[in-house]
Amino acid sequence: MTVSDPLVDGHGRQITDLRVSVTDRCNFRCQYCMPAAGLPWLERAEVLSFEEVTRLVSVLAGMGVHDVRLTGGEPLVRRDFPRLVAMLAAVEGVRDLAITTNGFLLERDAGALIEAAAKGGVGRVRFNVSVDSLQRERFHELTRRDALDQVLRGLDALAEFPQAHPIKINAVALRGFSEAEVPAFVELARNSVFEVRFIEFMPLDADRAWTSEQVLTGAELHALIDALHPLEPLVREPSATARVYRFADGQGRIGFINPVSEPFCSDCNRIRLTADGRLRTCLFSLNETDLRTPLRAGADDSELALLIRQAVWRKELKHHIGEAGFIQPDRTMSAIGG
Ligand code: SAM
Ligand code: SF4
Repeated sequence: MTVSDPLVDGHGRQITDLRVSVTDRCNFRCQYCMPAAGLPWLERAEVLSFEEVTRLVSVLAGMGVHDVRLTGGEPLVRRDFPRLVAMLAAVEGVRDLAITTNGFLLERDAGALIEAAAKGGVGRVRFNVSVDSLQRERFHELTRRDALDQVLRGLDALAEFPQAHPIKINAVALRGFSEAEVPAFVELARNSVFEVRFIEFMPLDADRAWTSEQVLTGAELHALIDALHPLEPLVREPSATARVYRFADGQGRIGFINPVSEPFCSDCNRIRLTADGRLRTCLFSLNETDLRTPLRAGADDSELALLIRQAVWRKELKHHIGEAGFIQPDRTMSAIGG
């Protein structure tokens, strides 16, 4: 086994996708993610430096982990974040760089982020912008921030850059809330450059208030949308999380990410690195592998690669949401990096 052999888990899945949480902090307090008062943040010294993140990404990229998504918390609140984007874009083996953001700071940062990626040698950055409501009051209620206008300005700023297209908007689907958002999101998907995707609510909320009754499934949303404007399925890539449809009249597309009602674990090619340097092999992992301690103790690349390989070998076969005995992890989505 060499440092550059592919990274494979004990169930035969090859890992090619890494989600890096660059901070646990956030400027929103979405009800399905964080408590109103926030969470106890990591100390600065606990958070990986840009150099440390880049080192781990280099080791992983050497093992075939070509796709890197930066998330958080809110990645754009991390000071000097574009510098990290430039550093990661320059890592040999990183082919695809993506950012998941709530969009609040995009008006300020869109240009700097795209420029940073280009400087590092990656011409195109993919963005997922999370927007759960297109109505100001309801957006405020759900995110606990009166920020819809700011986020929409951020989306417009991003749309100015052809290198950022196609731009995806992700909306968490909550029963009793999201049904009323459907017509506006359909109009947006049909009449703008943005591709809208609904994601099922998962038990990763800080308030531990998740119940299966609150999950508005992708199938239910599909039926609601199809009744407004008929949909036709598009071919899905094996490891893609979203089921994407186009409107039958050719005007726009819309997607559904259904981790609860239609788990895609058997095709999962993802692992996650938390802001404090823990490797997580599943969103719902109950165990983590500390990479920060060996990294700071001077481990060389082959030692880090071995630790990663051993952790990945034990990657969970599947999540057990909805099954008896399911245990919600201690970390919330904001502290894992969604
Ligand atoms: N702050 C950024 C954002 O909101 O896009 C990045 C981090 S956030 C944790 C990443 C994604 O996870 C967002 O699209 C958010 O809506 C989603 N998310 C958070 N909590 C969730 C939950 N309990 N179930 C499903 N998705 C969730
Ligand atoms: Fe912050 Fe994103 Fe969680 Fe909302 S979903 S609280 S924006 S980390």
